[in-house]
Amino acid sequence: MAPSAHACPICRKPTSPASRQFPFCSERCRTQDLANWATGEYAIPVRATEADEQWETPTDTGSERGRDD
Ligand SMILES: [Zn+2]
Repeated sequence: MAPSAHACPICRKPTSPASRQFPFCSERCRTQDLANWATGEYAIPVRATEADEQWETPTDTGSERGRDD
């Protein structure tokens, strides 16, 4: 047995950190996990405050136009 083996959070199948889908056992479970989040399956502690919104300020302010001399 491998007590340190990770289990897929969706179907509880053993997964390997070497897997591309880790921590999920498959892409299907990964998608299912996203679906759970989207449908509110998980309880998400909402802490959206006015102060938090300021953290979402984008850092890329369109510096595409470079100087040319
Ligand atoms: Zn799974």
